[in-house]
Amino acid sequence: MKPRVAVFDFTCCEGCELQILNCGEELSDLLSALDIVEFREAMSESADYYDIAFIDGACSRRSEISALRDIRKRAKMVIPIGACACLGGVNCLKNYYPMDEVLRSEYGKNAEYFDTISARPISAVIPVEFYIPGCPIVKKEFIRVVREILSGQIPYQFNDPVCAECKTAGNVCVFDKGITCLGPLTRGGCEATCVTGGATCWGCRGLVDKPNINAEKLILEQAGLSEDDVIKKFDLFNACQESMWRLEKSKYKLTK
Ligand code: SF4
Ligand code: SF4
Ligand code: SF4
Repeated sequence: MKPRVAVFDFTCCEGCELQILNCGEELSDLLSALDIVEFREAMSESADYYDIAFIDGACSRRSEISALRDIRKRAKMVIPIGACACLGGVNCLKNYYPMDEVLRSEYGKNAEYFDTISARPISAVIPVEFYIPGCPIVKKEFIRVVREILSGQIPYQFNDPVCAECKTAGNVCVFDKGITCLGPLTRGGCEATCVTGGATCWGCRGLVDKPNINAEKLILEQAGLSEDDVIKKFDLFNACQESMWRLEKSKYKLTK
């Protein structure tokens, strides 16, 4: 019997699910080896149990907590996909404000009809087996992880910083142009796509396992830049992450 795969979405733009649907021929090849039994963005069927449940999006409503627990009971393996699901992502920026204020600003006089809680990554609600990071996920990484799981391997997780791929790509470091970059702290695997495309790294793949905070501080100091600028940048995707460096600077705590 083929492994049963489901894809679910919570609070997000659903862009990571679109990445799966855009995998083209490689997705067609995968479909011969697995059975997609639930995927709201692509089909109307649903199922009762799954070998792998991919989750797109963060948890930011009470109703999503129970839905996630339900998925956990039905799934052998749960894998968050994308920055929203893995890190909380941009959704966590709302956590800086009281939730009643967030509701009022979004829904005005209808606020009482809506449910919102501090946004959080999926792993803050249920145990997960692996992560596929990025905003959005990298298609070839998704395909590789699925293939590795199907062949019984523990999928490889990148743990070199983005700088390694950035240097391989031959980019001029943006610090030399007086611009901050989170590449030295951020998990690689995206081929430094933002820097290669003329921008800078905003940390969408989350921190490497043991970020060298002192090295980043030194680079900033040498470039005459401030730590505060980097922390603001870090918050775009990682406001829910408890980096020691960040907590030194912020009073923010995830409220239940
Ligand atoms: S990680 Fe980015 S692309 Fe994926 S769902 Fe969240 S906002 Fe959208
Ligand atoms: S700091 Fe940014 S621009 Fe510089 S090498 Fe690292 S990823 Fe590239
Ligand atoms: S360069 Fe940074 S922000 Fe861009 S995709 Fe890679 S990890 Fe994400």
